[in-house]
Amino acid sequence: MTGPDDVDRTPVSDPDVCIVGAGPAGALLAHRLATAGIDVVVLEAGPRFDFDERLERMEKALRPAHPPTDVWEMGGDRDRYTNSGEVVYPLNTRRVKGIGGSSLAWGARLSRFHEKDFEMGSRYGLATDWPISYDDLQPYYAEAERALGVAGPADNPFSPPRENPPPMDAFAPSYADSLFAEACESLDITMHRTLFAINSESYDGRSACQGYGTCSPVCPSGAKYSADHHIAKAEAAGATVIDRAAVQRLKHDATGERIERAVYATPTGETYIQSAETFVLAAGGVEIPRLLLLSRSDEYPDGLANSSGLVGKYFMERPTCGVTARIDKPTRQHLIGFGTSSTHQFYDYDEDASPPPGSFKIEFKNIRGPRPSDVALTQQNILYSLQSAFGDPFDADKWSDVGEAAFVGDEWGDDLLDTIQSAYGNHIGLSAAVEGIPRRENQITLDSSRTDDHGNPVPNVSWTPSSFAKETMDRAFEVMDDILDALDADVLSRTRYRNWKGIGHHMGTTRMSEDPEAGVVDPDCRTHEIENLYIASSSVFVTSGALQPTLTIAALALRLADKLEGELR
Ligand SMILES: Cc1cc2nc3c(=O)[nH]c(=O)nc-3n(C[C@H](O)[C@H](O)[C@H](O)COP(=O)(O)OP(=O)(O)OC[C@H]3O[C@@H](n4cnc5c(N)ncnc54)[C@H](O)[C@@H]3O)c2cc1C
Ligand code: SF4
Repeated sequence: MTGPDDVDRTPVSDPDVCIVGAGPAGALLAHRLATAGIDVVVLEAGPRFDFDERLERMEKALRPAHPPTDVWEMGGDRDRYTNSGEVVYPLNTRRVKGIGGSSLAWGARLSRFHEKDFEMGSRYGLATDWPISYDDLQPYYAEAERALGVAGPADNPFSPPRENPPPMDAFAPSYADSLFAEACESLDITMHRTLFAINSESYDGRSACQGYGTCSPVCPSGAKYSADHHIAKAEAAGATVIDRAAVQRLKHDATGERIERAVYATPTGETYIQSAETFVLAAGGVEIPRLLLLSRSDEYPDGLANSSGLVGKYFMERPTCGVTARIDKPTRQHLIGFGTSSTHQFYDYDEDASPPPGSFKIEFKNIRGPRPSDVALTQQNILYSLQSAFGDPFDADKWSDVGEAAFVGDEWGDDLLDTIQSAYGNHIGLSAAVEGIPRRENQITLDSSRTDDHGNPVPNVSWTPSSFAKETMDRAFEVMDDILDALDADVLSRTRYRNWKGIGHHMGTTRMSEDPEAGVVDPDCRTHEIENLYIASSSVFVTSGALQPTLTIAALALRLADKLEGELR
C-alpha cells in the first residue's frame, strides 16, 4: 500500500455533499445520505486496506519486532507531528488513516454518555454544558447501536434511560470475571457486562467473533465493527469514495459565507478540486482543527470558522490507569482478547462529596499474563527501540518506546525459563478510564517548524492533565486496590500505571455552543460562520465524560444525516 496505483481519483461532478474523512463519522453519514438518494463524495487521506491482508496485519501486531505503527502503516512524512505540554503524546499510535479510520484499530467498547456528561456546568460548576442533552441524542444512540452492531447487556443498572436492549446478547462472562465477582460482592460493587461493537453472533453480513484475541489493533475475522463496512454500504448505495485523497485546503467564495471547493492531493502528485453544495469535516479531532487553521484566507486570517479563537482549543484525551496482580491459582482466561465485565458504579457523582470526585469506570481485564513467546521475544525490545529512535530522533513515539522497553528484563537460559514459568497463567488485571476537565490551554496548533509530505505545517499536540483528572485517578486506584486486596492478590507483583498518553479519544477541538463566541459549531454541528460547512466528530464534544466516545460520535453523525437529508432532498 505504498506506491501509486491506477485508481481514478478525479473529482465528482457537482455532488450534493463532500465528506472529508472515512472513519465511523464519515462512513455512517455517507451511507445514510447515499441511501436517501443524495449524491455524496468522500475524500479520504489514507489507503483502502485489503480485507484479505488482515491475517498478515495480525502477525505484525503479534511480533514484537514490529513497532505498533506498522500494523496500519502510520508514520513517516505524511503523519509528522510535534508535542508541547507535559505529556509526550504518541499521536501515531493513537489514530489510523485509511478507509475505516481509527476504528480499524479500536477496541470497540461502546457506551452512551450519561445525562450528567451534558450538564457538567449547571450541575457541578465544573465545565460548560452542552447545548444539547441526552434526550436529544437518545433515539440516535439506539440507531447507532443497530448500525454498528452492539452486543451487550440489557441490565446495566447504571445505564442512562434506554428504550430496547442492544441488538445482540452480551458475551458470556469470562472465568476471570467469576474470580472478581466474589471480591466485588464483598465490597458491594456491582459488576455488569460490557457493550462491544463485536458480534456475539453473525450480524449484518459479518461473522461472529472467532476468538483471535488481537481485536485492538486488528480483527482478522471482521467480527469487530470497523467503518470500512459502512463505506462499502455507502458505495453500494451510490456514494463515491476516493482513497489517498488528502484534503489540503478548503476554499470559500467571494462573500466568505460558503465553502466552494476542497483542494486535495493524490499519490501521483496531482492536485484536484472537488466542489460541492455542502461540506462535512469528518477527519478526526486532530486533523479537523488543523485543516481549518491551514485554510486561513484574507477574510479569515486566523483560520476558517475561528472568530471565537477556539479552533484547536480544549483538546481532550482519555487518561487511564491500571493495576495488574498475580493470584495463587490459574486464571484460565477465555481466548478472546477483551474483558467481558465492567462497573459504572463510580460514574455518576456522589453529589454530597465536596468537591465531588470525577467520573471513572472500571474494566475487569481478561489477561493471563505474558505468553511464553512474548516473554522470550521481548528480550530484544530495548535494542530494537534504540535503533529505531536513533534512526528518527525527532519522533517522540520512538523515544517513549525506548523508555518502556528499558523495563523489560534481559535474561537467558534457566533464568529465562523460570521467568516464563512464573509469569504464565496467573495474572489478573483491572483498568480505569477517568474523566478530564476541558482546559483551553490543551490544544492542537500548527507547528511551522516541521512540515508534512505536502509542505504543510504539522499539528502540535499540547496536553497537560488537570489536577481534577489526577485526583479522580487516585480515587480509581483506591477502588481497584480494594478489589485486589479482597482477592488476596500478590502485592509484590502488583504494578501500577498512570497512562497520561491517552487511548485515542480526540475530543473538544471544535466545541459546540449556542453562542458563536463560545464555540465553533452550533447545536446542529454547523460552523457558526460558514453556512454550508458542518463537522461530524468528537471534536464538537464540550466535555469528555469517562466513557468511550465513538457511540456519541455515531449518534451525532446520524442526527446530522437527518438534518442534511431534510435540507438537501
Ligand atoms: C487504539 C485505539 C483504540 C480505541 N478504542 C476505542 C474503543 O474501544 N471505543 C471507542 O468508542 N473508541 C475507541 N477509539 C477511538 C475511536 O477509534 C475514534 O473515536 C473513532 O474512530 C473516531 O471516528 P471519526 O470518524 O471521528 O475519526 P477517525 O476514525 O479518526 O477517521 C478520520 C479519517 O479522516 C481521515 N483524514 C484526516 N485528515 C484528512 C484530510 N486532510 N483529508 C482527507 N481525509 C483525512 C483520516 O485518514 C481518517 O481515516 C480507539 C482509538 C484507538 C486509536
Ligand atoms: S477476538 Fe473476536 S473481535 Fe477480537 S480479533 Fe478475534 S474475532 Fe476479532
